Amino acid sequence: MARFRPPRGTKDLLGEDMRRHQKVTGMGKTIFHRYGFSQWATPIFEDTHVFARSLGESSDVVSKEMYTFEDRGGESLTLRPEGTAGVARALVSNSLTQALPQKIFYTGPMFRYERPQKGRFRQFHQIGAELIGAESPFRDAEIIAMARDFLVALGLGDDLRLELNTLGDKASRMAWREALVAYFRQHEDRLSEDSRSRLEINPLRILDSKAEQDRALLADAPAFDDYLNDESRTFWNELKAALEAFGVAFVENPRIVRGLDYYSHTVFEFVTDKLGAQGTVLAGGRYEGLVEEMGGPAVPCIGWAAGVERLAALIEAPVADVSDVAILPMGDAALLKAASISRSLRDSGLSVSIETRGNMKKRMDRIVQSGASHALFLGDDDLARDVVQLRHLASREQEEVPVADIVSVLERARAS
Ligand code: ATP
Ligand code: MG
Repeated sequence: MARFRPPRGTKDLLGEDMRRHQKVTGMGKTIFHRYGFSQWATPIFEDTHVFARSLGESSDVVSKEMYTFEDRGGESLTLRPEGTAGVARALVSNSLTQALPQKIFYTGPMFRYERPQKGRFRQFHQIGAELIGAESPFRDAEIIAMARDFLVALGLGDDLRLELNTLGDKASRMAWREALVAYFRQHEDRLSEDSRSRLEINPLRILDSKAEQDRALLADAPAFDDYLNDESRTFWNELKAALEAFGVAFVENPRIVRGLDYYSHTVFEFVTDKLGAQGTVLAGGRYEGLVEEMGGPAVPCIGWAAGVERLAALIEAPVADVSDVAILPMGDAALLKAASISRSLRDSGLSVSIETRGNMKKRMDRIVQSGASHALFLGDDDLARDVVQLRHLASREQEEVPVADIVSVLERARAS
């Protein structure tokens, strides 16, 4: 018989992995609520153009990482590589472009054809937020503060730093881009092959190249700061003042350019030294042309996405949920009685497991290990008298309780 494994770059989420995952997404929901964000879910696949146009044909994601396929009707569809494009598409599809701002978050699987390694998968999960209709840098600061609160709530406040940069407005970026291209052209023979091809289509990406030979050229490259126009500089200064007002600490890092094409002004990453090369756990920025690309009006937005697997690897392991009560029926008649007792206990909100597998000792070992607070023994003799033997596992005290009283006795025990 064939033994299947999960496809390369994917993994099953179970046991502790699943608990870590749920802690990350659950904490996100708690914190986002404090900021008035509500959840959206968009389809896991979209018309390929939704991504190709919005992320930029030259971005790594579009040029080499997308899972694109033709369906039986001949449509070109793509498994979503990220969440923002789908959200912008949904805003327009649902005619919400006049109902601004929209503060939304999402969570779910994303798909990128990448070389699998630590912290890098082909199916991974993101939790992200978008503020659609972000009229000022104050909004950028607010959604960054939300990211900070989320990471602090996960216990990661000390492990992460916020790196911040500005890409300015389009005019500033174009002027700088021209200067960069001129500079790199002069030194084209010293550029890596990858960067030589970036020179035409996306020269900004050269700035975050990991190749040694490219990095050597960066020190003398034209600095963006010299090309920021007044408007962009004002935006940048207001952003930093607002971050300070929200109590968000950051370091400026001019190397942060982000991989996708749609950003302007604010870009940022929360990074850690604890995950090796895959140190960015949460990243985002301001984007202004995306809603227009989807057929809506020009709406400025600010958003970010966090990698759930990377956060899950950093947090402390959450403890497993345990049942409050374990029922141990002895014999067939007791088993059926256990069904009716468990029903009233569960109706009252208690978590109940019915232990039937293995001998008594094995069952008791499993229950003690599970951390349940009470065990409920049920034998033929008990059935005849309509009682159960209730053991408090912490004190090991045991008492006989009429079946009719079990719910109230256990509810009282839970309350105390
Ligand atoms: P990287 O530089 O690591 O490739 P990216 O710029 O492609 O990241 P984004 O598109 O900004 O990443 O996605 C936001 C976050 O999603 C990342 O910071 C990371 O935590 C997570 N992420 C991105 N790609 C993967 C992947 N293949 N596997 C696991 N997590 C990922
Ligand atoms: Mg990437």
